[in-house]
Amino acid sequence: MKYISTRGNDSASSSMEAMIKGIANDSGLYVPFNIPSISAKKMKELSKLSYNNLAVEILNEYFSDLGKDNIIESVKNAYEDKFNVEINNNFLELYHGPTLAFKDAALLILPYLMKNSKSLLNIKNKIVILTATSGDTGKAALEGFKNIEGIDVIILYPKDGVSDIQKYQMITQEGNNLKVVAIEGNFDDAQRAVKSIFTDDDVKEVIKGSNLNLSSANSINIGRLVPQIVYYFYGYFEKVKNKEINFGEKINVAVPTGNFGNILAAYYAKSMGLPINKLICASNINNVLTKFFNTGVFDSNRHLELTETPSMDILVSSNLERLLFEVTGRDSIKVKNYMENLKNNSLYEIDKNVQNKLKDFYANYSTDEEVKKSIKEVYDKYNYLIDTHTAVAYDVYNKYVKETGDTSKYLLISTASPFKFVRSIFNALGENISNKNDFELVEELSIKYSLDIPYNIKDLNKKTINHNISCTKESIKEVITRLLKEN
Ligand SMILES: *Cc1c(COP(=O)(O)O)cnc(C)c1O
Repeated sequence: MKYISTRGNDSASSSMEAMIKGIANDSGLYVPFNIPSISAKKMKELSKLSYNNLAVEILNEYFSDLGKDNIIESVKNAYEDKFNVEINNNFLELYHGPTLAFKDAALLILPYLMKNSKSLLNIKNKIVILTATSGDTGKAALEGFKNIEGIDVIILYPKDGVSDIQKYQMITQEGNNLKVVAIEGNFDDAQRAVKSIFTDDDVKEVIKGSNLNLSSANSINIGRLVPQIVYYFYGYFEKVKNKEINFGEKINVAVPTGNFGNILAAYYAKSMGLPINKLICASNINNVLTKFFNTGVFDSNRHLELTETPSMDILVSSNLERLLFEVTGRDSIKVKNYMENLKNNSLYEIDKNVQNKLKDFYANYSTDEEVKKSIKEVYDKYNYLIDTHTAVAYDVYNKYVKETGDTSKYLLISTASPFKFVRSIFNALGENISNKNDFELVEELSIKYSLDIPYNIKDLNKKTINHNISCTKESIKEVITRLLKEN
């Protein structure tokens, strides 16, 4: 399948090229030439598959140029004994992977898809993946790409914007092809820097001179988005198998949202024919998306607040561009104008016609107080612990039901393990933790709530620190250039 840019001035002749490049030459995002649709007959067949076999079928709809055998092998390498999805009441738990967050679903497989693409396209240059992280992407990318031949990774994370566990997960990472940089700034600073590096002329020179290809593992890469479509199908089919819904019955899904990648995957699933009714976009108090869906104005001209849900502390949700492309009827001129306004004025406004196309979505947000209340409520009611991000989905879903009275069956997307944000969990449960560090709290959570400590964070603070580069916002370009030259 051919991939086209949301801004209309670039295309990739295959999914392989789109994945290797990451972002289009015109700074737009690659989207499939058309979103594939699944027939009723095929849907029935898919509903019987295991997660891995389902992943093969969905990936093959988008990435068939890679060859089905390669996809089968990539899925096996990525997920076998490493990742699985569980459903617990209405919570779709996507955090049973090496980094304890849903980003593993995509970042465990992207390296294999890229490695295959590189070899099939006969690219001899080394590929450097440059990625900004609000905490979870970074570790997931490091874990997925470690020791993959011919591909190096540079991760930028905001120094004070990630939890201790997230930070230790990154700075203790082992692997011979990885660099981790702490920046003094927030996630948006990091993301902006990464985006500008991709189009910077000096950097382009360095890349050319060193025979490198620059790419991204952020959710702007289409290779991130597609693997995320799989678990919506899987979650839906599980509900059918459990006889909670009839085949074909529409459900609502609530997704804790930051960069708009996860919920966009749900939108793609719906566009492919999966019976989803409302896509509930759940934000924290950095509620630019709530305002956007309710008023048609996207306004990021404000201060970024740090919250108990750091992976959602974002003011520019990059993947919204792909939704805009679809709801404008694939009008790349309009999208380009919006994005130019965003760049120049931190703001754009869509017209009424386009706004009317957003009715599939409901958007609202939660404060930190509401997040804590939700964690406690879920624990008291169901004896079940959820992390802060998942709590946002829970809280906003309840707001939706209260407002609309729509009690259709539903899925709440559970994006991280409570162990990952352990301090917030204890706070929410009203426990006194003032003098304990995150690692002691992990032990305590395990004992008090009879939960096994996930093996991947056990003794994390006792591991060797392998990465200690840091820089200011202003010197990001200089530092990245130096790292690129070291290749
Ligand atoms: C990344 C992340 C989110 C937000 O997902 P987006 O695809 O960026 O919208 C939510 N929760 C957790 C735990 C995350 O890591």
